Amino acid sequence: MKKTKSNLLLMTLIILTIISVILIIYLGLTEEKYNYLTQFGNQSSTQMMGYVLKTRNGKIIAIDGGRPEDTNNFKDYIYENGGKVDYWFLTHNHNDHASVFVNIVKNTNIEIGKVYVSLNDKEWYMENEWGRQDFSIELIDTLNSDKVKDKVVSPKLNDTFEIDDIKVEILGIRNPEITENPGNEQSMVIKFDTGKTSLLILGDTGEKSSKKLLANQKDKLKCDIVQMAHHGQAGATKELYQAVKPSICLWPTPEWLWNNDSGEGYNTGSWKTLETRAWMEELGVKENYIEKDGNITIKLK
Ligand SMILES: [Zn+2]
Repeated sequence: MKKTKSNLLLMTLIILTIISVILIIYLGLTEEKYNYLTQFGNQSSTQMMGYVLKTRNGKIIAIDGGRPEDTNNFKDYIYENGGKVDYWFLTHNHNDHASVFVNIVKNTNIEIGKVYVSLNDKEWYMENEWGRQDFSIELIDTLNSDKVKDKVVSPKLNDTFEIDDIKVEILGIRNPEITENPGNEQSMVIKFDTGKTSLLILGDTGEKSSKKLLANQKDKLKCDIVQMAHHGQAGATKELYQAVKPSICLWPTPEWLWNNDSGEGYNTGSWKTLETRAWMEELGVKENYIEKDGNITIKLK
């Protein structure tokens, strides 16, 4: 009798364990996985831009990175998320965007899969980028270094490919004919689409490249999320944002720039951020994520 009872108890325990294991596996398999987008906060007072899109399957897609002072913050994220950057998109040649990439290639063992970049040759930067030549050359040399040279891809306009289930489309590449505001106007423009959420990266797109985008890509510009060009001011035109019609804005904008504060208080500077903020309010934007608020991660369906 006693033995039957303990057998029964054992059987019940075994059955319960089997049911729990099946349930755990089932929940694990059916759990919806998301893509996550992280906007990095500025680690110095200066404007910068850095993002990582982490796919449902854990692939790391970096977009720019920031200034030299932003390297550790970016590096920490990469080490905490597997220590590898699978894809790195560099929008243009400026040090508030590409310094982290240069530092990571030169000074770390972080593995990099592919680098997407659309640059002109050294001579172009020597001729047009006054005051920015040194970093432009350093970036080009880094891209030509042994560690990454075989991984560099210079995409063509309208190139489309997939990273996991994210569709990537190159809507803008370098514009060598634009030599006014030269570096910014060469910004690569990238659209990421998960099927449920679309994200537009504008880099530091300016007025002339905005016009080009409107002329060439009007039907593709509509996106749920937009990275505000040139740190949220004096970048893309109002017409471009009207075509994007976003519901979420990502602002690579430090506090003083967000408030147009020259040091004397709110709206004492000559930057155009408040004007851009008013455009986006007019467009009915629901959420703003701002660099000044530190690292922010949002879930993308
Ligand atoms: Zn910039």
